[in-house]
Amino acid sequence: MANEQLKTAAASAPWMADALAPGLPPQVFQHTVSQADMAISITDVHGNILYVNPAFTRVTGYTTDEAIGKNQSILSNKTMPPALYQSLWQKISQGEVWTGRLINRHKDGSQYLAELSISPIVDAHGKVLNYLGMHRDITEVHRLEYQVRNQKALIESVVDAAPVVIALLDVDDRVVLDNHEYKKLQADLGMAEPAPMLMSAIRASLELESGKGRRTSGYLFLDREVRIDRPGGNTPRWFSCSGSRVREDDSTADAFLAGRRRDYLLLVAKEITSLRAQQEKVRVAALQAVMADEDRVLALRESLAAATFRIEGPLNMMASVVAMLARRKGETDPMSVALVEAIAAGQQALEELRSMIPGETREAIGPVNLNELLRDVLDLSTSHLLAAGITVSWKPQAMLPALQGAPNKLRSLFKALIDNAIEAMNVRGCRERELTLASKERRGEIEVLIEDSGPGIDNSQHLKVFEPFHTTKRGGGHLGTGLSSAQQVAADHGGYIEIGPAAVRGCRVRVLLPLHPRP
Ligand code: FAD
Repeated sequence: MANEQLKTAAASAPWMADALAPGLPPQVFQHTVSQADMAISITDVHGNILYVNPAFTRVTGYTTDEAIGKNQSILSNKTMPPALYQSLWQKISQGEVWTGRLINRHKDGSQYLAELSISPIVDAHGKVLNYLGMHRDITEVHRLEYQVRNQKALIESVVDAAPVVIALLDVDDRVVLDNHEYKKLQADLGMAEPAPMLMSAIRASLELESGKGRRTSGYLFLDREVRIDRPGGNTPRWFSCSGSRVREDDSTADAFLAGRRRDYLLLVAKEITSLRAQQEKVRVAALQAVMADEDRVLALRESLAAATFRIEGPLNMMASVVAMLARRKGETDPMSVALVEAIAAGQQALEELRSMIPGETREAIGPVNLNELLRDVLDLSTSHLLAAGITVSWKPQAMLPALQGAPNKLRSLFKALIDNAIEAMNVRGCRERELTLASKERRGEIEVLIEDSGPGIDNSQHLKVFEPFHTTKRGGGHLGTGLSSAQQVAADHGGYIEIGPAAVRGCRVRVLLPLHPRP
């Protein structure tokens, strides 16, 4: 039956005979068209149907007899804009192929979405003789497409509306998907991609926790708190980060058989800056009390050390005199005897004094974030800085790796340096009072610069200031042990402090501390 129809169609479509390739039996062509799993129709130049294959009947509901002689418009649902048909006809009548989607009507009146291709069949002179229509019902595909699209839009709007930073990262920490809060963070921090920075902070904290300096993959972590420092004295921002692995089937052609999967990391970061600020306030207040106690102990230790140092001088002199007298008059000379007794009494007093010097408290070594520590010191010095009218320029490296050290000792070191800077600027005649504090990591070391705009230290004094009991400050009350103690703390951490002139004016103190001090 189908073959008969094709023959009839061929009678009014002479090109069909040409289409039969020499050597290829005509039935092959006929079977191909009639057995194709796609609705195929052949029309005259007016769209009147000459041939339909069985798939056409399956898709449209029209039998061959019902379709032959009718116009293709029997399939029209009459809902598509007329302009669409006009452009369709314009294209095909000019000999071009038209492809598109149309809402068609089934014989039973139900609608379906057709994906259609109409090809003009032209003669040797380019004259259109017939049209070949091929279409398939894509209603279900379209429904699924839309379902996926709607779900995607829904998920995107939920992710966008979430009050947390969300970013999907590939294995190279590249952001492949993000949300509104992430874009806000980008703008706030003025950086292209904050995610890799958060990730390196998270990895560093995971590494520290492992305690072996081992590089962990960094995947799958929960509520990890990380801190981002911002230049310009702004308070740091804190984020509680969680990460989970997300897997996607690789949709590229070369993964069709292999069934490869791609790994992503879903990073969710919740800002906890205000919570941390409150906790910080409480912590700094407690720290203030501890530091005040430590300062008192330190002052006592320094006073007693200075006293023993001063007593040692005259005792040594007396010992020299005794030695001299012994040489001249013998050891039994009454003056020598009296002096020896006085020296012995003095030595005993000295020993008693030494035993009264409070011992240094031992402190556990652990990971120290110098940015955090320097902020603490600035917080502790706020009232002094304000009273002296000093402006602070805080230039931390956004993410500073932690070093192994004694936090209280390091805090005292920086407090001593900042106190010195404040004192240097808080003098008459010092109009511009600016303290610059900067931190950065370079070649396995952390460098902290403390620059003041005070009168500076004379070149000849740059090394001397580190000697115990040496002071450049006039007037009493200064024992001159601050810098020597600070240098000792730096040395205990495998580092050192150097003093030089500041870039413009004043004094610049450079503290260098290795990240991994040699044992
Ligand atoms: P119509 O009056 O038939 O046509 C609308 C506009 O199309 C007219 O205003 C006119 O500008 C233009 N037009 C119509 N016929 C011609 C022509 N012979 N020459 C130049 N311009 C013309 N339509 C479907 O809706 N679904 C289908 O699956 C479908 N398959 C087709 C397959 C083939 C091979 C061809 C040739 C056409 C097919 N059509 C199909 C188009 C169909 O012929 C109708 O044009 C369309 O259905 C609109 O019908 P209508 O009755 O609403 O308006």
